[in-house]
Amino acid sequence: MPTAATKLVCVRCQNTITVGNCSNCGGDSYKYWSIGNFGNGSLECRKCSEQWAIWTCKSCGTKNTIDKSMKECFIATAVYQGKITPEVTLLRSYRDNVLKQSKLGKLMVRVYERTSPPIAEMAYSHNMVRLLLGKLIVNPAVEIVKHIYKDKKSQD
Ligand SMILES: [Zn+2]
Ligand SMILES: [Zn+2]
Repeated sequence: MPTAATKLVCVRCQNTITVGNCSNCGGDSYKYWSIGNFGNGSLECRKCSEQWAIWTCKSCGTKNTIDKSMKECFIATAVYQGKITPEVTLLRSYRDNVLKQSKLGKLMVRVYERTSPPIAEMAYSHNMVRLLLGKLIVNPAVEIVKHIYKDKKSQD
């Protein structure tokens, strides 16, 4: 089972933390639920099934919800087996710098964030699903985003 280094970003100070070992059982692999035990996004330890939805930022004291601070690109990360590759970084930057700047884009991102965690879960446990998602969705998306960025540069 690949271990994704789950990252959370404080909505106030942008401080990024990597979720460490589970305080309950010491496990280090987590599953994201868009609707968890607390009614909204939560993380679940894969080992002991403990869930939580809020974390406190150590540098500014803000209580963040997992929902708002989760920066995962679920499907892309799953396709690369939990590794944060340049492709994953590229897709994230497109999502944050381009898509989230428009109303329609924001809506698309919201729908994606709700629907992708269960799909990503399947990709972790079935090689075939992972290969297909890579071929049909993630690789084409990476190519499209690369083109968009290239066109933008040549316009400047
Ligand atoms: Zn645990
Ligand atoms: Zn903070």
